[in-house]
Amino acid sequence: MSPDDVLRRFTELGALLEGHFRLTSGLHSPTYLQCALVLQHPREAEALGRLLGAAVAGRLAGAAPTVVLSPAIGGLIIGHEVARALGVRAIFAERADGVLTLRRGFDLAADDRVVIIEDVMTTGGSTRETIEVARAKGATVVAAGTVINRSGSPNPVDVPFVALAAITPPTYAPEACPLCEQGIPVTKPGSRAEAK
Ligand code: ZN
Repeated sequence: MSPDDVLRRFTELGALLEGHFRLTSGLHSPTYLQCALVLQHPREAEALGRLLGAAVAGRLAGAAPTVVLSPAIGGLIIGHEVARALGVRAIFAERADGVLTLRRGFDLAADDRVVIIEDVMTTGGSTRETIEVARAKGATVVAAGTVINRSGSPNPVDVPFVALAAITPPTYAPEACPLCEQGIPVTKPGSRAEAK
């Protein structure tokens, strides 16, 4: 499946929309991406996990990974599917008092070789934070991967990195939005017909 095929599937499943959207951040954009709308379908999630797992495996030098670590919530499903493809366990980090951390008895050992998996890389910030969670346990991060890279950088982290597709949609402050200027109604994805 090529990057174009991945994006076409996202479009078919309504997870990649073109129009005029008010994003959660408050910014406006002609593009809306919601990976969960693809991953809600177990077969799609499994197929993407297999693709991403193979892409990660192709970037690894040396020993095989021992564990997939994902940031909650976005990375949970795809992390689990990549772990299934790689034949390793899947754990996740979540926020406690604002700090990303391992809970629920999840742990990493110094000899763990960790793959970090996310659904969408927006800035790279949450992947970098997850990498630090693993390193703080003394484990080695051997690669990172995401389904969609929208960071605008081919690799925003300091480990080998793979993405199944990349998009870099523009975003605008509402007061400087060319789509608003053209009088195109803005919608908030996920809520029906919230136009103004
Ligand atoms: Zn606008």
